[in-house]
Amino acid sequence: MIRLGVILVLVAACLILLSRVLKQILVLRYGQTTPSPQSAHLVQDPVCLAYLPKEGAVTAHGVYFCSAHCASQYEKGTENNG
Ligand SMILES: [Zn+2]
Repeated sequence: MIRLGVILVLVAACLILLSRVLKQILVLRYGQTTPSPQSAHLVQDPVCLAYLPKEGAVTAHGVYFCSAHCASQYEKGTENNG
């Protein structure tokens, strides 16, 4: 039974290694697979500094927000600043 456990651990380790190698190959072939803040489709909320997809963003004053709450916070801030 102990041998079976060792074999399972080795198989798991091999699968993890294989998935990492495959990911590296995909990144080299197709570029970055995960979205980065530099992506053209992502916008930054100036209030909570969260990056979010432009399609799902709340827009106010030509600025993108993650929620109406952040938009109202931004409006309060601009009022205070004059
Ligand atoms: Zn926000």
